[in-house]
Amino acid sequence: MKKIPKLQIEKILQIALDTPLNQFFDYLWRGEELPKVGQFALLTFGRREMVGLIVDVKSDSEVPRDKLKSIIAIRDQLPVVSSEWIDLCRFAAEYYQRPLGEVALPSIPKNCRALKTTALDKALKKEFRKPLVAHIDQEKNEPPQLNAAQQLAVQEIVEAEGYTATLLFGVTGSGKTEVYLQVAAQLLARNSSAQILILVPEINLTPQLQGNLQTRFPELIIAVLHSGMSEGDRTRHWLAAHSGKARLILGTRLAILASLPTLKLIIVDEEHDPSYKQQDGLRYSARDLAIWRAKQLNIPVVLGSATPSLETWQHTNSRRYSKLCLPNRAVNSAVLPAMRLIDLAKDKAQYGLTSALMSALKSRLQKGEQSLLYLNRRGYAPVLACEACGWMSNCTRCSSNLVLHKSESKSGHRLRCHHCSFELPIPQSCPTCGNADIQPLGRGTQRIEEHLHLIFPEARISRIDADSTRLKGSAQAAFETVHRGEVDILIGTQMVAKGHDFKNLTLVGIINPDSALFTQDFRASERLFAQLMQVSGRAGRAAQKEGVSPSEVFIQTRYPQHPLYQTLKNHDYPRFAQECLKERQQADLPPFIFQALLRAEAKELHMAIAFLKQAATIDMPEDIFVHDPIPMSLMKMANLERAQLLIESRSRTSLQTFLKKWLPQLSNFKPRISWSLEVDPVDI
Ligand SMILES: [Zn+2]
Ligand SMILES: [Zn+2]
Repeated sequence: MKKIPKLQIEKILQIALDTPLNQFFDYLWRGEELPKVGQFALLTFGRREMVGLIVDVKSDSEVPRDKLKSIIAIRDQLPVVSSEWIDLCRFAAEYYQRPLGEVALPSIPKNCRALKTTALDKALKKEFRKPLVAHIDQEKNEPPQLNAAQQLAVQEIVEAEGYTATLLFGVTGSGKTEVYLQVAAQLLARNSSAQILILVPEINLTPQLQGNLQTRFPELIIAVLHSGMSEGDRTRHWLAAHSGKARLILGTRLAILASLPTLKLIIVDEEHDPSYKQQDGLRYSARDLAIWRAKQLNIPVVLGSATPSLETWQHTNSRRYSKLCLPNRAVNSAVLPAMRLIDLAKDKAQYGLTSALMSALKSRLQKGEQSLLYLNRRGYAPVLACEACGWMSNCTRCSSNLVLHKSESKSGHRLRCHHCSFELPIPQSCPTCGNADIQPLGRGTQRIEEHLHLIFPEARISRIDADSTRLKGSAQAAFETVHRGEVDILIGTQMVAKGHDFKNLTLVGIINPDSALFTQDFRASERLFAQLMQVSGRAGRAAQKEGVSPSEVFIQTRYPQHPLYQTLKNHDYPRFAQECLKERQQADLPPFIFQALLRAEAKELHMAIAFLKQAATIDMPEDIFVHDPIPMSLMKMANLERAQLLIESRSRTSLQTFLKKWLPQLSNFKPRISWSLEVDPVDI
């Protein structure tokens, strides 16, 4: 019998590519089976081969047929991404003013969009095995009894129908995680295909929560997504999420852009955390995208925090979000720590520690309890200085200091820039006047650690910061020694402040928080309050026992009367938020106004400023307000001078409409400098 040839179809595929050039590109497709939107295609772009995402299949193109290139192949082994997922990327692209391809493609693992399919085929063949959990704590298998506030919270969240945004406002140690776990258990039991996405702010918080999830849901596949994974792992976990096999997805901010076909709930833990905002490329807020995604899918989203962002708090004031409160610590009889403000004018610090903090440390050591010292400054000392001539160790490439870092051997000591990574060995004498007596000024975590060894030679001391945990897995190992009780005094930066549940910790010392009180950044006090509340919350999380010290937090400050410290002392976040919001409203600042920031960098400052001035000359609508261009607070970085232009509006829609018209005009200037735009900037 003669085989009847199938009909050849000819269509135009609209493709999104990972290039800053344009939104979409049209390609010609001829064949028997029509490709679908959401499939990936191999094609040539210029002289290069690339993989792009099919976002539309249509009959016509503005480009003449004979100018259109043909698709080389369709990647049909990869399951199609949903139109909801493409819509999410489209929204993010439009809102943050980037091409769709720059949003969609980088959020797919490289192996899935590589020119060769070897790694993808391998990942697809391999059955997804449950990730190994380092230690399974049998006690955690049985869900603990919830207190009344937790029960109510669980009930309200699981009963929510359709889209609802809920702030779970719980003091530190109030058992927010347990609420998430029990909500998850009920939703997963009710819907046999439901997926739940849990976002956490930091990679080093994922192992602890992953362990909890794995012990509670041993039968389920849990996918983990964060930027610290190898490409192979990322591919396997992403595919497990994309295929719907993984029911629980735990990740950092990038996980909000994962393809999740049966997503039914999003949880954003520590929603106030600045690390939910991406600081380069597509400068998105994972928290804000979570809200959008929940709304689009008509599902609930839960934002958890002890110190919510003022944006979120304002939304609960205006009833756009509902609010559930966990006012007490979850463990029976565990109470919030007593906050003591130590006046540095009266109790002079020695080695950075006041006598009050020193004797509190001593009494913890005697009782075998753990203490935590918090200093958000890594390295040995923030600067090296010469008293004779005033020389300071400045970075020649940035407008900042070189930080002194000590190492095991003296020859390894270095001056290092925290902004551009420039390094120098320690000079023997002052480079300007030759004075041999140059001294470190101020203190970082390394120096406090060194002093602690001198003051308490018998104590087991551990330091956790970005320097001490450079090697993969070392942060987790360091935290585990604390959990096992092998550390008496832990000193650390904000890495130690979040999420960790240290059972035996009764004292927190905050060494030098004042500098954040007087910076230009209007968000500095909000961040400081959150950081101090978080780190204070590490103390006294276990039940109070006889003979064990009551938990205490010592804050060493020159400004004990400052309103921020006074509200912190009373654990009074609502009061703090109310005061801040009043100030923001009076000063016309977010969340009462919407902002975008145009940044420019050039070899010389005047070039960056000139570009921004030119950008500001374009006709502005009446409801858009443009400030004067100014140098950025860190004006020079890696030999580039940087300036910024702030644009504001009372209407988010007006700002969006304006940006959409404005940006193409900026490209038309053909500036020979680099520039970028951030919508809803967090660092101004
Ligand atoms: Zn000198
Ligand atoms: Zn530098």
